[in-house]
Amino acid sequence: MAMVKAGFGQTKNGTPVDIYTLTNDSGTVAKLTSYGAALTELHVADRHGRLANVVLGFPTLDGYLERHPYFGVTVGRVANRIAKGTFTLDGATYKLPINNGPNTLHGGVVGFDQAVWKAEMLHTAAGPAVKFTHQSPDGDQGFPGNLWVTVIYTLTNDNQIRIDYTATTDKATPVNLTNHSYFNLAGAGRGTILEHTLTIAASHYTPSDENLIPTGKIAPVEGTPLDFTKPALVEARIVQAGGYDHNFVIDRAAEGLVPAARLVHEPSGRVMETLTTTPGVQLYTGNFLDGTVGNGGAYPKHSGLCLETQHFPDSVNHPNFPSTILRPGQTYRQTTVYKFLTA
Ligand code: BGC
Repeated sequence: MAMVKAGFGQTKNGTPVDIYTLTNDSGTVAKLTSYGAALTELHVADRHGRLANVVLGFPTLDGYLERHPYFGVTVGRVANRIAKGTFTLDGATYKLPINNGPNTLHGGVVGFDQAVWKAEMLHTAAGPAVKFTHQSPDGDQGFPGNLWVTVIYTLTNDNQIRIDYTATTDKATPVNLTNHSYFNLAGAGRGTILEHTLTIAASHYTPSDENLIPTGKIAPVEGTPLDFTKPALVEARIVQAGGYDHNFVIDRAAEGLVPAARLVHEPSGRVMETLTTTPGVQLYTGNFLDGTVGNGGAYPKHSGLCLETQHFPDSVNHPNFPSTILRPGQTYRQTTVYKFLTA
């Protein structure tokens, strides 16, 4: 295994940004940047051993510094939507910046995706790893309390990208962290994800309104285009679904890391399994990609899909959803594994 740190440029106010290239014993290569604690490239083998980069991103820092659709980044303090950018916690009402229709999306106008994280390389028994840390100050984007966040990405020697998140706070605050990688197992920039076959271990989902705020119901997927309990081509019902941008409720018999999804690209033989500790997973099929952002404009609609493992959207306003509130003395923990194999 090998790990190399290099400069990736600097932010507009002159803060240096680094990029880390991790290579495991099987020849899989992952690149991670301290800007947004993001996965920028991931080169995995097809059934003939040929590598392709399977995540959408930019070759240089410039792409990340402009507004972009969260390619590969760590999303926080609260991933997904908060209705009308407001919530009440312990009797106090909080107002957040609105950045998506009438709602707050992905932590606000300046989320964790735009922070320069501190980074440390770790040589673990499982494989090369980078530990990113960030302190979000009290009042950051309207959220209460300082939040100390750690995200460790490990590229294991058996081809898993393992992401371990922890966070602590000094005031009660909502926390919901996720990774926003767009996967395309044919290779980023090589067409769309429509011919991928997807299975999601979810017999229920959270229906939402026209602004993608959950109604609060937990409904069965059976009989809807969201039924991925058996393998199905993404293309088959995507039009009926209006493009996938839905939160699935993961079926779990126990706490801890459980299988959430399996994505198969038959032509290349690349397979990705997603395992997570979270209650939900947002399937987003790049409906808003339009070829204007990306590596040389190469990312049209549906050119990647995200499996964002997370708590349900707008949980802070839905007492019947699993709680996202972290309190002083507690530690938020989330682990997600994207495991690559061939078939
Ligand atoms: C959301 C989409 C949004 C995208 C941002 C996803 O997590 O569910 O609605 O457009 O992030 O690129």
